Parts: sequence; C-alpha cells; structure tokens
Amino acid sequence: MNITYAALLEQVKAYHPGKYHATRNYTNGAVTAWSPYISRGFLSPVTVMDQLKSKYHQQEWIGFMQQMAWREYFQRVWQHQGDLILQDLKSTQSNVLLQGLPIPISAGTTGIHAIDNAIHQLYDTGYLHNHLRMYISMLHSNIFKAAWLPGAMWMYANLLDHDPAANFLSWQWVAGTFSSKQYVANQENINKYTATKQVGTFLDTAYENLHEAIFDKTDQVKAIKGMDASKPLDLPYEIDAIGILKKIQNANEAINFNINKIDLDKPFCIYNSFNLDPLWHTNEQANRIVLLEPNHFKQFPVTEKVLQSIIDLAKNNIQGIQIFVGNFEALIADLGSIDTADIIEKENMQAKIYFKEHPTTQHYQGIREQRDWLFPEVNGYYPSFFGYWKKCEKFLK
Ligand SMILES: Cc1cc2nc3c(=O)[nH]c(=O)nc-3n(C[C@H](O)[C@H](O)[C@H](O)COP(=O)(O)OP(=O)(O)OC[C@H]3O[C@@H](n4cnc5c(N)ncnc54)[C@H](O)[C@@H]3O)c2cc1C
Repeated sequence: MNITYAALLEQVKAYHPGKYHATRNYTNGAVTAWSPYISRGFLSPVTVMDQLKSKYHQQEWIGFMQQMAWREYFQRVWQHQGDLILQDLKSTQSNVLLQGLPIPISAGTTGIHAIDNAIHQLYDTGYLHNHLRMYISMLHSNIFKAAWLPGAMWMYANLLDHDPAANFLSWQWVAGTFSSKQYVANQENINKYTATKQVGTFLDTAYENLHEAIFDKTDQVKAIKGMDASKPLDLPYEIDAIGILKKIQNANEAINFNINKIDLDKPFCIYNSFNLDPLWHTNEQANRIVLLEPNHFKQFPVTEKVLQSIIDLAKNNIQGIQIFVGNFEALIADLGSIDTADIIEKENMQAKIYFKEHPTTQHYQGIREQRDWLFPEVNGYYPSFFGYWKKCEKFLK
C-alpha cells in the first residue's frame, strides 16, 4: 500500500458508480478495490460518498451506497455485540465435521480453478473480490463442513482490508449462523461470475447435491480427484503474532518509537491499524504514534506482509510517524517515565492524547474523537441488514 492520499483521492474523483450495481458480482465488474484504505481508516466513507453525490444522480450511486452501508452495518453490530462476533451469533453452525482449516483451501489446491487462483491471489496481493471471498468461505464452511472461525482467521490474516466486523460477520452470514440459511454456489454459478468454463469438478452438480459434494450422507469423505482421503483433510491454523510484531520492529528501526523525539509541549495523536487518517489534526503540531498492541494482534493476528503494508501506508502519508509496539498502558508508562524537571501529571498528559472511537480503542485514555459514519443517526443494533437499511433510507440525501 504505497499509494499517497492525493493519488487515492484522484481515483475517487475519477470513479463513475453508474455500472456498479449491475456488475459488482462479476470478478471483472466495476468494483473499486478501496477497501484496504477504507478499513484502515485512511479513506473516509463520507469523503467517498460526498464525491459521488456531488457528481451523479441518486440512481447512479445508490447501489454503491448500499454496499457501503453493509460495511457500516457490520461496524454497528461489532460496536454492540463486541467479541460475540467471534461466536455463532444467531444460530449454531450445523453439521460441522472439521475443526481446522481444510488443507486444499490453505494450499489453494481444491481443483476449482477460480477458487485456487483466488487463494493464490489472496497470498500475493492481500485483496479479493467479494464474490471470491464468498466462494472460498462457502466451500470451507458448507461443503468441507469446517467450523467457520479458523477459515475466517486465515482469510483475515491475509487481507489488507482485514476488519473483524466485515470479515467474521460475512463468514457467519455464509455459514448460516448470522443469516437464515447457508450460502452455497455450484460450478455453473462460479463459471458465470468468474469468466471460467470449468466442468467435471465436485461442484459441477445440482444445488441439492452440493452439501454432499465432499462428504457423503454418512459423513465419509468421497473419493475426489487430487484429494487423498486417507490423509487428514484439515490442520489447525496458527500464526505467531508476537514474532511478527518483533520482525516489524526490526524492519522499521528508523521510525521505531524514540522517547528522545517526543515533544511534551505537543499533543499526542494515537493511530492504530484502524485509524490511519492522513488528514487528522494536520493543522496541529503533534507527536504522531501508530500503536501496535500485542493484545490486539494476539486476538486478531495478521501476516507480516499485511502489517508491513500498514506501516508503509502510515510512513508515506503521516509526517513524523513513530511506531510503538506495546499495549496502550505500556506507552503511557514509557511517556510517564520521561524524567524531566517538569514531570507530566497524568491528567495533563491524558488531556493531550487524541484517539478515535473504535472497538479496539475502548481502553485508551484521553480525548476520544468520533470516526466518520455515513449514517450517524442509525446507531443501534439491528439483527438484519434490511431492517438497518430501511432506517438508513430515511436519512439518504
Ligand atoms: C467471507 C468474506 C470476508 C470479508 N472480509 C472483509 C474484511 O475483512 N474487510 C472488509 O473490508 N470487507 C470484507 N468483506 C466484504 C467485501 O468482500 C469487501 O469489503 C469488498 O470485497 C472490498 O472490495 P472493494 O473495495 O473492491 O469493494 P467495492 O465493491 O468497490 O465496494 C466499495 C466499498 O464498500 C464496502 N463494501 C462493499 N461490499 C461490502 C460487503 N459485502 N460487506 C462489507 N462492506 C462492503 C467496502 O468498504 C468497499 O471498499 C468480506 C466479505 C466476505 C464474503
């Protein structure tokens, strides 16, 4: 993510949303690939929609707005349900036969070309089209019948746009634990939306047979080309979050937190991987620190590649940025240890610390500022998107 904010803004200004709604489900449709910036709090959804609204009629931007509202809906669910988004939210996942990550999925060797290419694309670029995410997720949870969480953790770790709300709740939506039924797709559907023409795969069957594409009715693995039924089908998904944080610290020495560069006369802007807003308090001189908290990354690990991309985005767009690897309390302790004649009083220091409201910043102390919402008025918990969207429609301008 080496882009500058100015270059990204040019993309936003040049985007025409007219074809979005009709084509968004096709992998070559008019999607934007802005999620890595929106998820990182780098590109505001309000800026995006203000741009589109200023140039186009409502009928041209409404489809795009609705998808942006899905994102915001998931954020509200996370805000209200907290860590419950990591558990089956509305109903229990049915018929789970694997507890780990299916090996053909993690290796990209399922034999379904569109899906295998997508898995390699995920590893190479950190981005996937929404429909490809749905195909991978449905294959994992509803056809391999694997518990959704390991798959969700794996995909999350590799996505530049990783977001607990959008990711875990989408996985739950596909697995039927946050929707009324499990989502499945057959080869014909995959061919249609991914411009492939594959036949003869285990997904090349009618919808009523799909749930038995890998396991038969007695839960025995069927003989499938390229899959050895005598070997385990899944493995636990593990990632060394703390080791990765150490590597990131070593690789970015020049911008690691340095207490000698702190100016106690200036306020502190605390960024994290969900707030890299390059326009935040830009008119003020401030100590700018990206906080990488081990407690957060132990719960929601990402790969080294993904974390380095976040650092690059911050480095290229936020002047004077420093990285602090440690929990918020450790940062405060380090700042408090500056032993000068004018030792800062705790209250004084807190008054000078800015951060943005987010589920990951609930334990921060200082001045909590609002993040941007498209529908600030619609801030409750809605069990379904459609109830939420109905309310949002009242505030469409
Ligand atoms: C299994 C699965 C996992 C997902 N994990 C994530 C994740 O970790 N982070 C993430 O941001 N999105 C996630 N999504 C939602 C969606 O796939 C991505 O937001 C979208 O594909 C991003 O690509 P884009 O920027 O080109 O989207 P566009 O189609 O151009 O849409 C514009 C913006 O609208 C929002 N948006 C569009 N569709 C959705 C959607 N279905 N749900 C939520 N927001 C949407 C995004 O912010 C996106 O950038 C997931 C979806 C699925 C099915």
